[in-house]
Amino acid sequence: MIILLGPPASGKGTQSGMLSKELDYLSLSTGSLLREEAENGTELGKEIAGLIDYGNLIPDDLMFDVLKKKVEGADIKGLILDGFPRTLRQAEMLDEYLKSNKEYRLKKVFVIKVDEEDIKNRVGTRIACAECGAIYNTTTKKPKVDGVCDFCGSTNFVNRSDDLSVQAVNKRIDIFNDNVDEIVSFYEKKSLIFLLNGLKDINTIGHEIMKALKDN
Ligand code: AMP
Repeated sequence: MIILLGPPASGKGTQSGMLSKELDYLSLSTGSLLREEAENGTELGKEIAGLIDYGNLIPDDLMFDVLKKKVEGADIKGLILDGFPRTLRQAEMLDEYLKSNKEYRLKKVFVIKVDEEDIKNRVGTRIACAECGAIYNTTTKKPKVDGVCDFCGSTNFVNRSDDLSVQAVNKRIDIFNDNVDEIVSFYEKKSLIFLLNGLKDINTIGHEIMKALKDN
């Protein structure tokens, strides 16, 4: 298991996707998982949508249940967590889970650093494929063919609703800042932290991650 930690639009999803191909691990974005649940329109989905749209976190217990449901019993070689944990409590819950479920071992926690101004710029230029949800950025990560999704060929792109509201973006950044130090020190005690400069080129960061895993 690998964890990718970073503020909104720091490139966690991009790196998670690349790593998933290299390692044949499942890339699991808790944000995507929750957006799928929200789109289902169930009572739970509506509750989740209400929290996401304002940039609030889903309560820890509920988040962990959604995650466990996805992972338990699945035939997975390894797992890349993108967007989890977001609180110290989530990190502790995962830790307890890993102690009693030995099929996964946490290899590294990568922390992608991007400063606040760059985050805001990136969120402003982020787009998603309306069909498959693949994430692009109109300046830093364009589709290979202009206007066409690399993965499903769709030409329909949308913004994420929580990217469109300045308040929601600020809230997400504040929540990240409020929680990140506690999470990092939790994993620092386990010597699992590896810091990355999120402003570097996407492929350079990818190589740094792969090298850190090989040196592990
Ligand atoms: P992301 O796609 O990672 O930016 O996540 C989008 C939104 O989903 C966040 O702003 C939260 O509302 C929610 N979310 C994602 N991951 C978590 C998590 N681990 N705990 C609580 N809420 C989460």
